[in-house]
Amino acid sequence: MFIFRRCFALCLVLILLPVFALGETVVTSFYPIWLLALNLADGINSLEVRNLAAPDTGCLHDYQLQTSDMKVLSEADLFLVNGAGMESYLDLVFSAFPDLPVAEASQGIPLLAGGEALSIGEADEEEEEVNAHIWLNAENAARMAENMAAAMAERFPVEAEKIRENCDRLVARLEKLHQELTEGLSTLPSRDIITFHEAFPYFAQAYNLHVAAVVNREPGETLTPAQLARLTEVIRDLGNPPLFVEPQYEDLSARALAAETGAPVYMLDPVVTGPETDVPLDYYDTVMRHNMEVLQQALGAQ
Ligand SMILES: [Zn+2]
Repeated sequence: MFIFRRCFALCLVLILLPVFALGETVVTSFYPIWLLALNLADGINSLEVRNLAAPDTGCLHDYQLQTSDMKVLSEADLFLVNGAGMESYLDLVFSAFPDLPVAEASQGIPLLAGGEALSIGEADEEEEEVNAHIWLNAENAARMAENMAAAMAERFPVEAEKIRENCDRLVARLEKLHQELTEGLSTLPSRDIITFHEAFPYFAQAYNLHVAAVVNREPGETLTPAQLARLTEVIRDLGNPPLFVEPQYEDLSARALAAETGAPVYMLDPVVTGPETDVPLDYYDTVMRHNMEVLQQALGAQ
């Protein structure tokens, strides 16, 4: 009986071992990529999707890899990144983990130059060559999902069919969202917006808005009196278009400008932060629809 029990326990271990051994880890670089990957891995028990930067990191501009990130990457079977310069630390990943496959979601997506809009305030020391905020055009998000799904299907062939099914469903949803945004923003009487982080050029290009000015500055930094004066002039010349701040940054400059010019302040969410657990798979869609409603309110009633 004793021997039987030991044998039973051993058999149990042997049965369960392959289940654990089969588990594969997909690591994503930041929140928008994580959201897409969660959709692509939905219902696939052998795939674990982990996000590298803490969800409150926001955009990765100048982000340095943490020790905890290196630990997560050491356990990764595939690393999914935005690309287009968002992850400035990629060379370090290539040298530290030469065998880790890295897939860029931005592959094949036409990129906009960085710093195209009028920039006021302290620009980054090294001006970024291309703008990396591609996911804010829902059609781009669909292409990103396809790129990511192709990389996942290649890396995890056993799950390829399920990944492709998830991708088809996700792409259909994102295409529908794109159409909704296009229609919802097509008849606004005014199109000028002023933002405080260069996150919205792809959004503006896709949905026919005009980023009249970007107030570039480090988070938490306030504008100098000279910058404030120049921007006040720009805003007045444009007829006091709405100012758009982001939930990731408390923006004192925007409040100061609003007080100075009377331009209204609204919030647009670039979906770089959000819930960490029990994330609704359509969280991106929900935030983008809310952005559309904010814009309708901000630009429709002038
Ligand atoms: Zn950004």
